[in-house]
Amino acid sequence: MDAGIASDLAQLVSDPARVLTAPQVLDRLSHDFYWYSPILRPKLAAKVADIAVQPRDNVELMAVLEYAGGNEVPVTVRGAGTGNYGQCVPLNGGILLDLSLMDKLEEITPEGVAVCQPGLRLGALETAARAQGWELRMYPSTLVKASVGGFLAGGSGGIGSVAHGGLRDFATVRGFEVVTMEEPPRVVMHEGEAVHEILHAWGTNGILTRIWFALTPAVDWTQHTAVFGAYDEAFTFAESIAREPAWTKRLVTVFEWPIPSFFTPVKQVVRPGKALVLLMIATSQLGKLRAAMAAAGGEETFAGAYEGPRTQPLLSDYTWNHTTLWAMKTDPAYTYLQCGFSAAECREQFRLLREHFGTEILFHIEFMKNGTGEIIPGAIPVVRFTTEERLNEMIAYCRSIGVFVANPHVNYLEDGGRFRADNIQLRAKEKYDPRGLLNPGKMISFQKEHLAR
Ligand SMILES: Cc1cc2nc3c(=O)[nH]c(=O)nc-3n(C[C@H](O)[C@H](O)[C@H](O)COP(=O)(O)OP(=O)(O)OC[C@H]3O[C@@H](n4cnc5c(N)ncnc54)[C@H](O)[C@@H]3O)c2cc1C
Repeated sequence: MDAGIASDLAQLVSDPARVLTAPQVLDRLSHDFYWYSPILRPKLAAKVADIAVQPRDNVELMAVLEYAGGNEVPVTVRGAGTGNYGQCVPLNGGILLDLSLMDKLEEITPEGVAVCQPGLRLGALETAARAQGWELRMYPSTLVKASVGGFLAGGSGGIGSVAHGGLRDFATVRGFEVVTMEEPPRVVMHEGEAVHEILHAWGTNGILTRIWFALTPAVDWTQHTAVFGAYDEAFTFAESIAREPAWTKRLVTVFEWPIPSFFTPVKQVVRPGKALVLLMIATSQLGKLRAAMAAAGGEETFAGAYEGPRTQPLLSDYTWNHTTLWAMKTDPAYTYLQCGFSAAECREQFRLLREHFGTEILFHIEFMKNGTGEIIPGAIPVVRFTTEERLNEMIAYCRSIGVFVANPHVNYLEDGGRFRADNIQLRAKEKYDPRGLLNPGKMISFQKEHLAR
């Protein structure tokens, strides 16, 4: 790094201590949970920013961007660094823009829209919202650590998606201000459909600095677990809860054995050899749920109130992509895929996968609502990793039988499953970051089009 950059950046923020140069700090801030993927691990381990800056407001942030633009220095944004695909790992050094100090919750409007800065943690927002009678429509299982900006730019959905769909659905993201990498940088408001130009673009085409995020009225939730003798029975019970609109639910998760054996801190909810269903259900429906579960052959192993992100045990800590973490703790040879099964064909798809790959793929289902309102079995199957070729064979086979796969073993947007086929994210990049300085290397269609000119 040019030693002048540190002193130049120190002029742009009110406290020079917010310009970070210590190698171990840069190493930490330059990495996320990319190591989940055995393919990304060796590719990204050595990638590190030259310097990091922690702006406190838009004035400082825009000054840093103007400086970076003028000097052709790449800028990679970081929220809390909980992404799984190395989204915030800088591939070409440069400046790491850590937004964790831009974490104000401005207000929750009477209509239930949170207005906040990007660095606000989702857990803090959930707690503040519930105190006012609202709650998040959906959140990743990294709720406590993850930031709102990082979720919008890098996440897709999670707990709550069974009722409210993914982040891109049902106008949950009402709008945001985007700071561009133009010369000079500008603040541009994106509302309605225009949010999709920037949403889930990994900070490659603009930086979210102020966000309008729709909430939903808070519910008195019970966390519930039940075990079933066979995966099919567990799946059918969970499906009946997920698909019937009369159930008020926030989470409907199914694990086949041996996945539950990985959850060592909550051994008491697990029974050897049995499939496990985790639910968050309205407390007012608990009696009815128990009857439905018993009729389906299930045995309740736990029921307790959800009292916010600090609840113990917090069942969401075992769901969505946390499941993979528990699997990897048990055996580092496990990794994962991100899939969407067909609501109508899923049983045949399960059968074909088992026939083809045996227990190399273990079923972990997260029911979710898609953008058309249909409830589908989303899935983050636990996969035993042997070689990259075998993993790609699994992905290709899934796709050949109609199972959607968002490939978590690539470090560019286009194969990650959320890139817009109409290229609106690419068009926004051409407009807002024509020099290609924002998180370079992560939107490969930009590089291709750019180089072709
Ligand atoms: C154990 C585990 C479980 C997970 N479960 C889920 C899950 O259930 N659902 C889910 O969707 N994800 C999940 N994830 C992925 C991740 O935790 C979430 O997507 C999370 O919301 C990311 O937030 P973050 O603040 O950590 O973002 P970061 O990792 O810091 O950033 C994510 C991306 O957004 C960009 N970015 C950050 N802030 C901004 C900004 N203000 N403007 C523009 N770009 C920005 C970054 O450059 C990066 O490309 C999981 C990850 C782990 C490790």
